[in-house]
Amino acid sequence: MDDPAVYYSNTGGEKQDATAVSVRSTTELFASDSQKKMNTRVVYGSLAALVIALIAVLIALIVVATSKNSNETSSSGSSAQGSCEDSNSYPWVVPDCSYAKTNLEKAHCVLDSYPLVDGHNDLPYRYRMFANNSVYNVDLTSDLRLTWDPNVSHTDIPKMRKGKLGAQFWADYVPCASNYKDAVRLSLEQLDVIKKYVARYPETFEFVTTAQGILDAFKDGKIGSLIGLEGGHSIDSSLGTLRMFYTLGVRYMTVTHSCNVPWADNWLADTPDYNETLEGPKHDGLTAFGEKVILEMNRLGMLVDLSHVAKATMEDALRISKAPVIYSHSSAFEYCNHYRNVQDSVLRLTKENGGVVMVNFYDKYINCEPNLKDTPTLSQVADHIEYIKNLIGVDYVGIGADYDGVPSVPVGLEDTSTYPALFAELIKRGWNEENLQKLAGRNLIRVFKQAEKVSDEMGHLPPYEDIQPQKVSNPDDLPCRTDF
Ligand SMILES: [Zn+2]
Repeated sequence: MDDPAVYYSNTGGEKQDATAVSVRSTTELFASDSQKKMNTRVVYGSLAALVIALIAVLIALIVVATSKNSNETSSSGSSAQGSCEDSNSYPWVVPDCSYAKTNLEKAHCVLDSYPLVDGHNDLPYRYRMFANNSVYNVDLTSDLRLTWDPNVSHTDIPKMRKGKLGAQFWADYVPCASNYKDAVRLSLEQLDVIKKYVARYPETFEFVTTAQGILDAFKDGKIGSLIGLEGGHSIDSSLGTLRMFYTLGVRYMTVTHSCNVPWADNWLADTPDYNETLEGPKHDGLTAFGEKVILEMNRLGMLVDLSHVAKATMEDALRISKAPVIYSHSSAFEYCNHYRNVQDSVLRLTKENGGVVMVNFYDKYINCEPNLKDTPTLSQVADHIEYIKNLIGVDYVGIGADYDGVPSVPVGLEDTSTYPALFAELIKRGWNEENLQKLAGRNLIRVFKQAEKVSDEMGHLPPYEDIQPQKVSNPDDLPCRTDF
């Protein structure tokens, strides 16, 4: 929209000059005959200039109207996707990093060429824990390990810059204890915290809600800041609430956190002893209403995040979703048998779906049987990435470190300054620049653009208006609900 506006104001400037010439000329009309002729010529000339200027203004108005029209078409029609991809093709070329003397220099070269998009960071929840959600009493340019708990504080601006972070999905997370209670209010407060700190540091962050927005922010030297809602409990089984979170800028929702919701099972349902616990696996994946939630997310253009959910929920969502899915912070189950990770059969389905698994750095998810080591290391995270690459291909893997959300991380990946070290490790293992760009952000951007395209194609559909049947909610909590 900027370009047509500039064009219009330039044309306006020309028009003003022509009018000024015309006014000056008419004041000298009757001086002498020769002067008269000259003045007549000047008058005609001025009139001609005026006509030309008017035509120019008319053309400018047509250009503005046409461009507005095409923008409107682009938000509801698939033609926009083509133009988006065109503008994405340049200058996003694979860089020539042959000048780099070390693997770390080469890693820097790659991460300067394309944004590293991390799928999950829990800094917003640290604001709640350590600062009562106050943003203006916290200096994000300082080392927060000195004021917050050093074990769970991995993020500040100098570290993110050193780590070449290009864009971040900030987690709008509130604990499962709020399920059936005040999860919506608490989640809105976390969303507010994200918007507050993004606004407080405009030279560092730029709030974005589109795939192209990530690339534009990166071009401007900013860390594109997006919001992911971590857990279906945050919408309280309400599609209206889901839609309002989208309106406020949320661009993915994790279908569950580590608790069931009335329409989907979480990953604990897969653990061997879970049947003995109070809740147990309830829905064998998604309920009919859960399927509606997935379709409504597709219609909105909100990414479906399958980290934290049960295997059956993953399979149901992959069957239902019309858009590629993400796993914002999960690793490979076969390499480390933790049920928060993604099993091989699901990885294969994810390839068919075109989604992306963004590998988590939490040492409990990357260092366990059958590859348990005494000390969890960066090398194991590289193993997870290579495991997924070797099983389903380099197009389906990304980074979702889970910084500030976990109490321990591997040696070598201590905080948000260490991403280049991981890329240097992969370079050592023979990864080329193009594949490193895919891991960094190309895969996620591809998925995001495709989800936007699906949303455009579903744009003609009205919002789903189903209401979650009350009887499916947790009966113990029904006294807390308003009865209408
Ligand atoms: Zn999580």
